[in-house]
Amino acid sequence: MKTVDLRSDTVTQPTEAMRAAMMAAPLGDDVFGDDPTVNALQERIAAITGKAAALFMPSGTQSNLCGILAHCGRGDEYIVGQLAHTYRYEGGGAAVFGSVQPQPLLQDAAGRMALADIGAAIKPDDPHFARTRLLCLENTWNGHVMPDHYLRDATALAREHGLATHLDGARVFNAAVASAATGQGVHARVREIADHFDSLSVCFSKGLGAPVGSALCGSQELIRSARRIRKMAGGGLRQAGLLAACALHALDHHVDRLADDHVNARRLAEGLSGIEGLTVKSAQTNIVFVDVAEGRGPTLLDFLKAHGVLATGLIGLRFVTHLDVDAAGIDRAIDTVRRFFAEAPAVPASAARTGPY
Ligand SMILES: *Cc1c(COP(=O)(O)O)cnc(C)c1O
Repeated sequence: MKTVDLRSDTVTQPTEAMRAAMMAAPLGDDVFGDDPTVNALQERIAAITGKAAALFMPSGTQSNLCGILAHCGRGDEYIVGQLAHTYRYEGGGAAVFGSVQPQPLLQDAAGRMALADIGAAIKPDDPHFARTRLLCLENTWNGHVMPDHYLRDATALAREHGLATHLDGARVFNAAVASAATGQGVHARVREIADHFDSLSVCFSKGLGAPVGSALCGSQELIRSARRIRKMAGGGLRQAGLLAACALHALDHHVDRLADDHVNARRLAEGLSGIEGLTVKSAQTNIVFVDVAEGRGPTLLDFLKAHGVLATGLIGLRFVTHLDVDAAGIDRAIDTVRRFFAEAPAVPASAARTGPY
């Protein structure tokens, strides 16, 4: 039986049509700037996000890194959420490669840093302090769509203090699909979100289903600077049009269908919320978080795996829907969880595996 892989929306396999687009792509050498497919992708994503320029990147991590380093120099500082991807899950790259000090701040359950905390963290011009240069937000954050008023107020506060603003928009297309007004196109909604920021990073390899690739979008000057940094980071890729073709195909064919992933996530959340021993903690866009009672998360994960359903987590579990999971797969995941609680004997909490997140 086919595995229902809900570990992440990065696990998708390129479709046959995407592989065909890849094979048909005209190629050049992108380090010379003459790969037509890379150039077409960069123009397309710049136009969608309403920025003057864009740069194709091998990963979201490199895209955020080049973005932060294009905004900040040695001894500068960027304000970021304590649990934000750029701070917590990118190996501390901005500090390691750029000598850029992060100023992490607590976030609420929806990923927001309090405006008062942001204001208080912006340092005066004084040799005691690092120079606060950049505010970095993330949308979606753990599946949450950041409300517009928050994006507006937080970026306005940053600008008042002369800070630049960067969005880690790895899943900004999910945010746009989930929050577009009736009759508003997804591209227009992406543009509306991006308009708050000087730069943003967008992933093609998450829900959009490309095997590899992200883009950094911003002004001509910022992208020129990011291109130099990307070179230093080893991200100058030659016939990268093979990969850019997948991203272009994803933009043409996989944007509107993100709504299906959101429907499947709700289906999963509804199915799981009826099961005793589980609490659905949050279920927005394509990510569902579930708390498992009595420390049984790890045994539940093992049980699921033994029955061909994959998820991640320890105490709380995370399920992510995507292109390669349909409603039948979701129903199988729900049934398997239900069977676990019906069949598997409860383990005393003391015997349950624990571990760091
Ligand atoms: C996936 C992701 C990234 C980038 O990850 P890569 O694996 O390097 O492509 C950045 N930010 C967020 C929020 C992500 O989910």
